[in-house]
Amino acid sequence: MSDKDVIARHGLAKRFWEKKPLTKLNKTEWEALCDGCGKCCLNKLEDEDTGEVALTCVACRLLDDDTGLCSQYDIRHQFVPECIVMTPDNIDDHAYWLPQTCAYRLLWEGKPLFDWHPLISGTQASVHAAGVSMRHRTVPEFDTPLEQWEDHIIEEPL
Ligand code: SF4
Repeated sequence: MSDKDVIARHGLAKRFWEKKPLTKLNKTEWEALCDGCGKCCLNKLEDEDTGEVALTCVACRLLDDDTGLCSQYDIRHQFVPECIVMTPDNIDDHAYWLPQTCAYRLLWEGKPLFDWHPLISGTQASVHAAGVSMRHRTVPEFDTPLEQWEDHIIEEPL
């Protein structure tokens, strides 16, 4: 079990996300918005006709179920080249599939962050305590054939 703080807080202005638009955030501020919930690291099933996105608990091969975090974040593209790097420039294209509690999606929709967000609570533990992280809730991609993913569709933990 880990409550490792994933946020590099040094030099961040207090509640910077309320003072600047998403497109004006610098790289440190942008990265700090990620709450480490792990929900974007779950495989999704998208209906080709309707565009509807279903979430599964089948995790990316790099997600560590014990922490809910990417085990190789800095070098993840060596293993998973298709992992999307979200930036202020492409958030418009990706907001639709992001989890409802994702800080990027919330701010993109003009909504406030939840009080359990580590930037507000000051601790990563609050994400797990709020029940919104995927820690201890995933099944590994390698052990779960694609044809079984439909059996692993879940509701987003909110
Ligand atoms: S869903 Fe959003 S907040 Fe959660 S881990 Fe992914 S990028 Fe970070």
